[in-house]
Amino acid sequence: MQKKDVSPYGFLPNFQHFATQAIHVGQEPEQWSSRAVVVPISMSTTFKQGAPGKHSVSWVWLGRSRVGREKRDAFSLLVEYSMDLGVFLTYWSDFLVFILGLAFASGLAATMTITHLLKSGDQIICMDDVYGGTNRYFRRVASEFGLKISFVDCSKTKLLEEAITPETKRPLALGADICMYSATKYMNGHSDVVMGLVSVNSESLHEKLRFLQNSIGAVPSPFDCYLCNRGLKTLQVRMQKHFENGMAVAQFLESHPLVEKVIYPGLPSHPQHELAKRQCTGCPGMITFYIKGALQHAEAFLKSLKLFTLAESLGGYESLAELPAIMTHASVPESHREALGISDTLIRLSVGLEDKEDLLEDLDQALKKAHRPNAY
Ligand SMILES: *Cc1c(COP(=O)(O)O)cnc(C)c1O
Repeated sequence: MQKKDVSPYGFLPNFQHFATQAIHVGQEPEQWSSRAVVVPISMSTTFKQGAPGKHSVSWVWLGRSRVGREKRDAFSLLVEYSMDLGVFLTYWSDFLVFILGLAFASGLAATMTITHLLKSGDQIICMDDVYGGTNRYFRRVASEFGLKISFVDCSKTKLLEEAITPETKRPLALGADICMYSATKYMNGHSDVVMGLVSVNSESLHEKLRFLQNSIGAVPSPFDCYLCNRGLKTLQVRMQKHFENGMAVAQFLESHPLVEKVIYPGLPSHPQHELAKRQCTGCPGMITFYIKGALQHAEAFLKSLKLFTLAESLGGYESLAELPAIMTHASVPESHREALGISDTLIRLSVGLEDKEDLLEDLDQALKKAHRPNAY
């Protein structure tokens, strides 16, 4: 019997088999002599060889042989076969049959390794409101190596077309070949791992990136892989709850008299709301809003929060709040921040998995305190 899986608020239904794959793919106990149900890790950085070049362990999965740390490979395999088939935030074509994944020491290490595919004189077109660290890496580091960087508002197709110089036209016309994730966020989901993931749609790109990764040294630790692998088991249920809580917070803020404006793709007021519904199975717990008043009100609000913690990063089970202009996006030049609307009253929330009534109550009391003259 086929039951239609319906997603709330008009988004796409959940990807079929996503939760099952995230729990089982690459984790078969038969792979280990111990038959451990939880994939074992080895912290050893080296393995004794029987003779020069003769490794006693090699792991062979699905016809591809790999030598390496058990956990990293089981983990990469999981990412290859389940994540891109159903990643929650970015809906990735309908179904990529052939996907290969790599795990990196961080999201930025993944970005850096991909950037090493380019050579001096090549152009990078980057969305203009990209993560502050990526902006800094492209502007201050990659550009020093002769790469041309253009920051563009990619929601405006015309601007994107204008930014494409003739020699860069091909890849975009064909769709993306590489997908990069910061697993530091929702995928690990517990704010205790920094890791990046990359998936590609061709064996040759996979080989190139594997070579670069090995040459550069951007590898993750076995223990981080262990934790992230564990986090993935609950990704689907966590994302459902992040969406539910995020939606409740966004609606609450949008109707609040002390809030100027809310930016959340789950709300019909968001310019890309319709697009998001067509491409995504839901929204995460990331909400930005402008508090009424000035910097002092934003600061008083953040200081008054009790449940939301004032901290950078995002995607964990705990709710966080921050002021991008001074925190996550401080490295973005001021003029650039202004153009993007990252003002002193813009507040970013990462809505966690707490009870939503408690979250709303916390926001309400902090908004009220921020606007009481004796609060600061
Ligand atoms: C966090 C983040 C990164 C950087 O990832 P790290 O794992 O922290 O190095 C890059 N891009 C985006 C959109 C991010 O949110």
